Amino acid sequence: MRILIISDIHANLTALESVLAEAGDYEAAWCLGDIVGYGPDPNECITRVRELPKLLCIIGNHDAAAMGQIDADTFNPEARNAILWTRQRLTKSSRSFLNDLPEKIQASAEVTLTHGSPRHPVWEYLLDTHAATLNFEYFDTPLCFVGHTHLPVIYTATDNHYLARLEIPEPNTKIVLPKRAIINPGSVGQPRDRDPRAAFAIFDSDARTLDFRRVAYDINTVQARMKEAGLPDRHIQRLSAGW
Ligand code: ZN
Repeated sequence: MRILIISDIHANLTALESVLAEAGDYEAAWCLGDIVGYGPDPNECITRVRELPKLLCIIGNHDAAAMGQIDADTFNPEARNAILWTRQRLTKSSRSFLNDLPEKIQASAEVTLTHGSPRHPVWEYLLDTHAATLNFEYFDTPLCFVGHTHLPVIYTATDNHYLARLEIPEPNTKIVLPKRAIINPGSVGQPRDRDPRAAFAIFDSDARTLDFRRVAYDINTVQARMKEAGLPDRHIQRLSAGW
């Protein structure tokens, strides 16, 4: 089965539409959280995600904060402003969708889905091999897909529980997945690896391959909408360079 893997859309509908147009055919879609926060189109992104075939979706820290499940004061001042902005705009239908999202799910016999890490689904940033190594103890499937850092990466478990191997995939390359790994497809709506193009992945569960993809989108129109909405400048600027 061909499965679309998306994460950290962050209310960027233009990036999401470009990803969906570029993805080709897929039979299912798995979304790794943070549909909202930062960007100008929270409700539109939720509506679009809900339409995806055989959708599995988990909650991210920005989704939880926008719902009031997490105190906005735990975020930096600009992220906090974006969360409060989002909170005021979520429709009843969007709220009920976010409210029902789980923190961690087993999507298949092979794959677990979570936002931050299998150990601390909503909060932990998997930024190094040490943290990744410890996290292999916290899921039972061969593979785990995560988001949260907005950085595409593959952590491969090594024999004898020695430090995991870290690999940064080249954009637009397909890899055969290792026996046991934690994988981040990157962010649709706010990439942070200095490549401003929207990131997503296609998982072929039969061939056991993952295609790391990037697609350019019209960043200027998103920035203009963010400016008009009064969203923080820093979040507007960072889209241009992907930081
Ligand atoms: Zn995020």
